[in-house]
Parts: sequence; C-alpha cells; structure tokens
Amino acid sequence: MGRPHFSRLAVPLRFLAQRDFRALGRVRGLTGLLEASLQEARAGGAPAAELRLLSDALAATRGASLDAQATALRRLAECLQAAPVNGPGAAAVADSAPVQPVEPSAPPVPSAPAPASAAKGRSRQTKKPEAEPSPSPRTLSIAPTNGPLAVPLRRSGIRINPRLLSALEKKGLLRVGDILFLLPRGYEDRRRLSTLRELVPGMRGVTVGTVRAAGEVSLRPGRRVFRAVLADSTGSIALTYFQTGPWMKARFPLGQRLIVSGELRSSPAGREMVHPEVEPADEGQGTCVHFGRIVPLYPGFERHEQRQIRALAHGISRDASSAVPDPLPSPLLRRLGLLPLSQALLRLHHPLDEDDLVELDAHQGAAHRRLAFDELFFLHLGLALRRQGVKRSPGIRFRVDEERLSRARGLLPFKPTGAQERAFGEIARDMARPEPMHRLLQGDVGSGKTAVAAMAAALAVLDGWQVALMAPTEILAAQHATTLARLLKPLGVEVALVTGTGPAAGRRRARAHVASGRAAVAVGTQALIQDGATFHRLGLALIDEQHRFGVLQRQALAGKGPRPDVLVMTATPIPRTLAMTLYGDLDLSVLDELPPGRTPIVTRVLAAKDRARVWAAMAAELARGHQAYVLYPLVEASEKVDLGDATQGAAELQAAFPSARVRLLHGQMAPDEKAETMDAFRRGEVQILVCTTVVEVGVDVANATVMLVESAERFGLSQLHQLRGRVGRGMATGRCFLLAGFTGGLEALARLRVLEETGDGFVVAQRDLEMRGQGEFLGTRQSGVPELAVANLARDQALSAIAAEEARSIAEADPTLTRHEHAPLVRALEERWEGRLALADVG
Ligand code: ADP
Ligand code: MG
Repeated sequence: MGRPHFSRLAVPLRFLAQRDFRALGRVRGLTGLLEASLQEARAGGAPAAELRLLSDALAATRGASLDAQATALRRLAECLQAAPVNGPGAAAVADSAPVQPVEPSAPPVPSAPAPASAAKGRSRQTKKPEAEPSPSPRTLSIAPTNGPLAVPLRRSGIRINPRLLSALEKKGLLRVGDILFLLPRGYEDRRRLSTLRELVPGMRGVTVGTVRAAGEVSLRPGRRVFRAVLADSTGSIALTYFQTGPWMKARFPLGQRLIVSGELRSSPAGREMVHPEVEPADEGQGTCVHFGRIVPLYPGFERHEQRQIRALAHGISRDASSAVPDPLPSPLLRRLGLLPLSQALLRLHHPLDEDDLVELDAHQGAAHRRLAFDELFFLHLGLALRRQGVKRSPGIRFRVDEERLSRARGLLPFKPTGAQERAFGEIARDMARPEPMHRLLQGDVGSGKTAVAAMAAALAVLDGWQVALMAPTEILAAQHATTLARLLKPLGVEVALVTGTGPAAGRRRARAHVASGRAAVAVGTQALIQDGATFHRLGLALIDEQHRFGVLQRQALAGKGPRPDVLVMTATPIPRTLAMTLYGDLDLSVLDELPPGRTPIVTRVLAAKDRARVWAAMAAELARGHQAYVLYPLVEASEKVDLGDATQGAAELQAAFPSARVRLLHGQMAPDEKAETMDAFRRGEVQILVCTTVVEVGVDVANATVMLVESAERFGLSQLHQLRGRVGRGMATGRCFLLAGFTGGLEALARLRVLEETGDGFVVAQRDLEMRGQGEFLGTRQSGVPELAVANLARDQALSAIAAEEARSIAEADPTLTRHEHAPLVRALEERWEGRLALADVG
C-alpha cells in the first residue's frame, strides 16, 4: 500500500534532513505542502499517529520558532523514513552515506527520509546518488588545522570504538580538533528526568525506563507498527514506531534501560510516545556525562548513536580544551565580556546547569557567543588586512581631469541622476589615485548602474587603458556590449564580445582584438577569465551582478592586468551593515535614486485561480502594443517538471492570445537559440516571452510592461523584486502579477504582500533576510566568504559590527601584525582560515 500523502513531502524533507533541518528557510511553501498532505492523509485514512505528526508539523510551520519547526519536521521525517516505501526507486534513495550502525545486528539506517514519489523521483535516483549532499556534521570554521588538535583520532591514543571511529571518519571528522570544535545541533534537558507518572500528555519530557515488552503489532489489517513498553516504578508507557524490522527489536532488548525523549500522548491505547528519541542508559559508566545535566546532541548521528559521540566529545573537551591557546587578547575578552576559548569549548559540550536551554538551542549561549565572535572577528581581520594590503600596493593612476570628466558625462543620452553623479565622482576619485580601486556599486534594479560603468569605462579608455566588463550570462553580456558600443561610439573604440559560444572564427577574432589591444573594451561572460583570454593593457575591470560571481572570479579578472581598478556592481540591495561585513574589502557607492520619469511598478498578489483576471489585464497591455514576460520557477530538484509547466503554459497562452507571438526561453536551449529568442523579444517581434529561468535578471526591454510570475511563492522576495524591475523601464507603468500556487497557502500570500506594499528594494531585502536567513540570501558560499558555523550574519549584525570594529582597529594600529602581542592572531589566521583566507592575498 502506498502512502501518497507523503510523496509530496519526500523531497523537501529529505533536503532538510540532509542539512540537519538547518535550511528551513530555504524550503518554501512547506505549510502548503503540509496542509495538502494532511488533507490527503485524512482522506486516505492514515493512522492517527501519522495525522498527528503531520498536524504538529503544520502547526509548527505556522509560526513556531525555527527550532520547534525543526523538531516537528524531524519527527515527521523519521516517521516517513521508517515507513515502508513502495516503488522501485525506494532502495536507491536511501542516503548515500548511511550512518554506520553501532549495534552489531542493526542494518544501516538511512539518516535521511527515504521515500520519494516513485514516478517523479526515479530517474534522478538511479542517475547519481552521490551527487546528493550527505548529511555531514559541520565542524566550526575555526577548528585548528595544525598543532596537537590536528592529530588524527586514529593516532591520538584515545580509545574509540572502531565502529564509531570509522563512522566519524566517513563524516570527515578525522582529527581530535574536529570533535572538539563540533557544534552540537541542539541540547536536551536532563537536569531532572521525569518519572513515567510525571509525564504530562501534550508536553515533551525526558524519562528513563526499562523495556518490558517489544515487538510488532497490527493496528489493523495491513498496518503493522513496532511497539515497546517502557516501565519504571511509577508506571508504564508505550513507545510506537511506524517502522518495523529486526533492527528495531535489536534497539529495544528486554530489560534494557533507555532514556526516552518525546511528547506524551493519551491515545485510546493508553499513554504513548510516537517516535520518541531513544538512547541506551547504561548508568554504570559515564553517569555524569549522559544524565543529570543538559546534554548536547550532535549532528549527523542517529539518536541511538548519540551516547558514543557524546562520551567522546565529553572526554576530548575535558582533556584537550584547556590546552587550546586563546588567540584573542585577554583585555579584549574582558572588555567585551567574552569567555576564553578553552572555557567556551568546554561549555559547548558541557553546558552549565544554570544555562538557558532555549538560548543554548538557538546557539546563543555564552559559549556560542564567544565562538561566533571568534568567527566574525577573524573574518573581519582578514578583510581588514586585505583592504590595507590592497591600499598599499600601487596600481594604476588614471589621468582624470575636468575635460575628461565632462566628456565621459557627455556620452550619456540623459542627465545623470544625483546618485549617479555622486557614484561617478567617487569612482573617478578612486581611479585618479595610485592605489587600485576596489569599489562596490550597489543600486536597485533600474537605478542606472550601467550608465555609471560606461562613464568609468570612458575615463579608462581616454587614458589609453582597456576595460573589461564581465556579466553572468551570455544574454546580459551581449546586451552590455550593445549598450557600451552605443554609448562609447563617440570615442571611436571597438567593443569586443568575448563569450564561450558562437562561431569559432568570430570568437577567435574577438579574443585576438582584446589581446592586441585593438578592442579597447571587452565585454563577456566568464570566458573573459579563462586561460586563453589575455589583455593588452587592462586597466579597469567591471563586474556586473556580483552576487553571481565569487571572490575568486573577481580576482581572476583583476589578475588579467597590472593591478587594475575593480568596480563590482550588484542589484542585490543588501542592508548596509551586512554589506560591510560581506564586502568589507570593498568601498561602497550606493545608487539610492531612480532616474526620473519612472512610474512605480504596480504589484498585485493573486491566487492561481485568478489567472483569468491577470490574463485580461495582460491582454489590455498587449493591446497597447506592450510586451509581457511570463515566468515559471525552476527548482533544481524537478527541472523537467517545471519545464513541462512552462511549455504547457506557453501553449495555453498561445491559445488564449491567438494574435500574439508567444515564445519560450529556457535554460536547456542552445545559447544562440536563446540569444535569438531574446533578440526577437527585444525587437518587439515576440509579445509574450515565457521563461523558466531567472538568470537574465539584467535584461532591459523598455517596451515590456507586464511581468507575470507563476508559483511566485517559490521565489525569494528579493529575487521577485529584481524580476519586477524588468518591467516599467520605459515611460509606461509596469505591472507585476504574482500568482501564488496552491502549495503556498495563506502564509505565502502574506509574505508576497510585502512586495505590494513597498517598492523599496532595501525594505524588501531586510524582510527577505529576516525570513530566509543569510545563507540563501547572500549566497555566502559563492561570495567566497567562509561559511560560518555559529555566527549568523543576519542575526548577529550587532556582534559582527563589534567584531569588525575591533578587527579594524587592530589592523590599523599594526597593519602587518608584527607586534609581539599579535603573534597569536597571526597564528590563528594562518591555522584556522587555512586556504580560505589565502584568497585574501590575491587581492
Ligand atoms: P541597472 O542599475 O538595473 O543596471 P540600467 O543601467 O540597466 O539599470 O538602467 C536602466 C534603464 O534606465 C536603462 O534603460 C537606462 O538607459 C536608463 N537610465 C539610466 N540612467 C538614467 C538617467 N539618469 N536618466 C534616464 N534614464 C536613465
Ligand atoms: Mg544592470
């Protein structure tokens, strides 16, 4: 018997489980999915306990804390994982790196929920299971890579059960320090264990009891569950699991004492816990480790394995943490009220009795605070040093004078806005200085960054230097090439388009012209930074849509010239404090003013059933000779399905708008086909462009006035804000319609309404950041900033500001960190950041 009500949850839950439920903000529409699943589960007569898990999870996603949500979803996932899976893909979906079983007789238990809808998931599962990220525990980014803590566990002399050791090694936890710096995923309050009688229905509790009976029971024909009876001197409760099998029995041997944690329910069958977390309770050894205190729970380990990893972490933190040197000067720690590192590490694994459980669980306790500060401090120190290094080494000093400035301004067919003037002034000043410019130009969509870039390019060209402009996609690169060629025409320069596709002869010629200096301006994609691409005299590197490129690519482009000036442009409106954290090595110019004559974009959020109304509005725009985008989201996990949606959508649109030309643009099309479609749209030959990709964020088609986004709830707010910036670039009012699919539910509608209420990208960004967290918002991985384990750039903005200030004042006072008292800082920078901070040296 299948469990159709779970099938739609399988993919998101697996995704979450693999990230230890830390990526909650990245799964959208979960509430809607849960609602739909619950309905189906009810209709399909699913067992009461499953309904309860579903409705708990649903309730949690409607506003409980992230931790409470994680707990509810984890339990749901466990239940789901345990469920008998039907369909041929079932075995293959099991997590690619199963947790090494600890009990001798237990088969590997997948640590991620398994079932996927057989129909949709099959092809992916059989293709490449190893491509799925394994649920690896994360070591703090400050774990040392040298010294005594870098000794491999295997050679450390610490006695470790060989099975545990190999499980640890599989997860990449190889060194003593990896355990010491392993961040617990949460904590459990075992300061006082309840007796069974004391457990209150509807409340979570931790208790200890002895297994009195265990085995499979049949709830009704075809529905078998595993049930154990746990007893202490005050009573007994049932422990129920929807998974059965020999390994379950092995986990509940008669007479075994267990620590059980979960929520007690009163069910017709009596008092029971459904899918409680269970850990063996051998009080003989390590009583003070597992009982009578707040105990840590470690990521990447099943509940029944917690005991072993906890004992190991306990021992290592007790023996090794005092030997960890503290890189931070103690006056600084005292001034800021931070724990010394050794104490923080000890307390991470052994919270004090008086510690606040909620704070601990939210990674906000004193230990976490110190460790977060540590991460942020060294991040800022690295950035501050890099910035100073950049400032010290000489680059190009462009000759900039009043005549050249006005020639540059005169190239624009319009009067620059005040903000554009200001930004250009800052850029021109930087360019005239001997130190290389490292500037970030941040401006909302349509604020006119390209015009500023063109003026900067003019200054470089007028001084006899080459300019490179790198864009994330071929379409954008082509668009920029056209724009720059038009704007710079009076200077008589050749603009070469350097991309990875197109006729070989043309590509060779473009490269040759850039190499010889014949083309003063090179516009292109990443092809610009490939090995073969050389410049004659690169003086200014412009990078558009920065958030798509990492630090490395930025540096690679800069590396094509003799310390050229670098101007990075981004439309992602990052709150200022955050921008300083992320781009601490860049100076900031902000375009906070839109060119005149823009009418604000009218945004409407509607349910999918109102599509007909939206189409009517679209028809009215088309009748005025305007054009429209219709956008379908592309979700990595189901590319095919979405492409199907878009293809079908295009057909429906064509049927509904017989006199309009409808064309489809998607990521799997050949590059020249894409360019051709885009050109046709730009020329006005296509009225409705149906796209599955949001890659082309920067395209500029002034006659397009409608942006219709299907399943809008699947996008982030900032992304939607950028998308709507595509319309209303000309004089006519732009209209953006956001259709929320049924999966989104009311919550999604509410979230999208932010876009109805404000047109200010910064407000949208701040809200987006609050709702989604930093990782997704900033794409930290891509931005080249090391991933932080404890600190959270969004949440810890205040702490980050303090860390930045402290780091900057040290870097200013001692730019080379040669002072005796700063030796530990140098060591820590080298040791902890390893290759990651070496990025900083490239400049
Ligand atoms: P973005 O910041 O999103 O890259 P663009 O540089 O593409 O913005 O500019 C958006 C549109 O606004 C372009 O069509 C451009 O020609 C126009 N534009 C830019 N600056 C001005 C200005 N000062 N006055 C009028 N129109 C402008
Ligand atoms: Mg742009």
